[in-house]
Amino acid sequence: MSERNVVIIGSGPAGLTAALYAARANLKPLLIEGLEAGGQLMLTTMVENWPGFREGIMGPDLMAEIRAQAERFGAEILQSTVSRVDLSVRPFPLELSDGARITADALIIATGASARWLDIGSDRRLSGHGVSTCATCDGYFFRGRPIAVVGGGDSAMEEAIYLTRFASKVTVIHRRESLRASKIMQDKAFANPKIEFVWDSEIAEVKDVQRGEVTGVVVRNLKTGALHDLAVDGVFIAIGHTPNTTLFRGQLDLDETGYIVTGQGTRTSVPGVFAAGDVQDHVYRQAITAAGSGCMAAIDAERYLEHLPAAADTQAATAG
Ligand code: NAP
Repeated sequence: MSERNVVIIGSGPAGLTAALYAARANLKPLLIEGLEAGGQLMLTTMVENWPGFREGIMGPDLMAEIRAQAERFGAEILQSTVSRVDLSVRPFPLELSDGARITADALIIATGASARWLDIGSDRRLSGHGVSTCATCDGYFFRGRPIAVVGGGDSAMEEAIYLTRFASKVTVIHRRESLRASKIMQDKAFANPKIEFVWDSEIAEVKDVQRGEVTGVVVRNLKTGALHDLAVDGVFIAIGHTPNTTLFRGQLDLDETGYIVTGQGTRTSVPGVFAAGDVQDHVYRQAITAAGSGCMAAIDAERYLEHLPAAADTQAATAG
């Protein structure tokens, strides 16, 4: 059993920034990386809005830098996942996927959010056989071929624009007649001659599950109900994310969509447990805001630890 001051779960911008700050506060944090090491920025291309890089920086490069910076100050990073945690006992016991056990005086949850799927069955069944939620990972396979992108947000526009590097044509299928994406992303997408839009529509089916590969989609017009076939070799789904909070269900206050409820900075409903990044933020959801809240969580944890055990009672009275 390893006993730690601060354990951080998750290795996106929130988790790694928390690790950096906690390490510099001499708390010797342990960060457990999780399945999607580096978080969502590992699946993106150029990040143009991270302050300090006027020409932009590639998402994976940015994460590698923050990780190295955290390690430089003594953060320990473990390639593992947490399979169980008990927030009713102090220090908090955690069990890792390899069976290892750890306790934490303070816990920072930065488990982020994962890409959503369509709920039509055929998309999941053809995952990895032409259906993807990551253009950066899979775009290369569609050189010279037509593809569809689902969604109307910044992610969908970013993916559609990126995919025009490879695809012969990109058809964006969106359920409304206007985009949710920011103006600058909309302008870029509308100006791209390889991108076409199908409005007020959804994918009713991805074909062909029998053949085990994508040969096209059946598109349903949501206003008229009419169906039509669109021949594509790939489908990229970019319809938002679901917070990764399964581990904490029933142990922490979550909102109706599953995000961790925080109050007074990054405090959760359990004293000594803090949450940062997309796992508790469905409003801003930017890498920079995730990193900012990771910094806040480390400072909140540091203050909590300074006043243990009195802090537990205070937080219980103020959280939520
Ligand atoms: P988002 O903004 O929530 O957009 C999700 C899109 O998917 C919406 O257009 C939504 O339609 C559609 N959608 C949701 N569920 C659907 C379903 N079941 N079937 C079909 N369509 C569905 O998510 P996001 O694009 O991933 O962006 C998340 C956050 O990250 C945002 O704050 C965004 O600004 C940020 N982001 C920024 C950048 C950048 O600055 N370069 C890049 C990527 C993401 P409706 O519009 O009808 O709701």
